[in-house]
Amino acid sequence: MKKILIFLLLLSGFYFAAFAGDIESYKQYTIIKTTNNYVPLRDGASDNAKRFSHLEKGVKIFADEYKNNFYRVDLGLDKYYWINKKDVDVTSKTIKKEPSKINEIKIFEDEKYYTAKIKLTEIPPYNEIETSKNSVDFIIYDSILDKENLIQTIETNANFKISKDEFNNLKISYFSNVPLSGHNVQIDGDNLLLKVKKPFLYGENKPLENLTIVIDPGHGGKDPGAVRNNLKEKDINLEISKKVKSKLKKLGADVYLTREKDEYKGLYERVDFAKEKNADIFISIHQNSYLDRKNENKKEGTSAFYYNKESYNLADEIKNAIVKRTKLKDDGTNLASLAVIRTADPVSVLIECGYIANKKESEKLSDSNFQKKLARAIVSGVKNYLRNNF
Ligand SMILES: [Zn+2]
Repeated sequence: MKKILIFLLLLSGFYFAAFAGDIESYKQYTIIKTTNNYVPLRDGASDNAKRFSHLEKGVKIFADEYKNNFYRVDLGLDKYYWINKKDVDVTSKTIKKEPSKINEIKIFEDEKYYTAKIKLTEIPPYNEIETSKNSVDFIIYDSILDKENLIQTIETNANFKISKDEFNNLKISYFSNVPLSGHNVQIDGDNLLLKVKKPFLYGENKPLENLTIVIDPGHGGKDPGAVRNNLKEKDINLEISKKVKSKLKKLGADVYLTREKDEYKGLYERVDFAKEKNADIFISIHQNSYLDRKNENKKEGTSAFYYNKESYNLADEIKNAIVKRTKLKDDGTNLASLAVIRTADPVSVLIECGYIANKKESEKLSDSNFQKKLARAIVSGVKNYLRNNF
């Protein structure tokens, strides 16, 4: 009896060891699909981790681990990326990663965009990497060229280059001799559309003709923004924005405000509104505050914010024009990852005209004549941006 028991224990031990060995010999992937647009793929398993890429709805991803509500994604690069489970659906599991096949690459142009249309068996993860103000690389991961059946057509003289990145992923590069006017990726059925906006035009007579500009008066409704005594940031933002709108219209632009009155609008609602309008330029108008209440009178001046490289010039021109025309202090042109300015199409900037927290400056900001001066300066900044870059 004893002998048999020992034998059984040994046997189960061996069996268990053999089975465990088997598990280690392959990876299991969870296949997930993005369910929202502009989904961040991040450097770490946290909503604060750096953004690596943004994915539209319908991207198929192989995840190899799950922790803290994030799926881990191995793109075959030298590090892992993470995607929040709230942005994806789990579709199935697999032990083999099947790369998507690229059947067709077609590069063409229409009135507003240059487009590289990539036809695939399924939509894999991708990235838009700004290599300079003037150039962008589109990279397509987890895919292979279907060499036997591949159709390649190029119907534009724009500067596109088809190559591979250091990890052997398809790379479509675009470069221009002027700063980019926006780029984005869209999904259309089995096609990835890699889009670059054609350079803006500048004409002396009606310099803003053909441009669609969205002005975003920050805050509103239940969200007053920065407050000093009875002065609310949301009201100043709206007043300045309305004045900017009427001046831009006179120069030929199509102009829209994200809110026309004192009402609440979410940050992504404002971004979506600009997309719906096919905006070329997006300007968010704000007044600054300073968290250190004791020293708030020491902070003053105008600052501008951008996220994408190509938006820097617009931010800087507007800030410079305000500083020049209003004599407010130069508080810098700064990189910031803010929801309303993260998209690269439209070219997007956020302007903090001045400090509502600063007593002297708040008196100026609430004055209607000073607001007119600010509006004129913002419009002149837009004109300078177009004149100096295009
Ligand atoms: Zn604000």
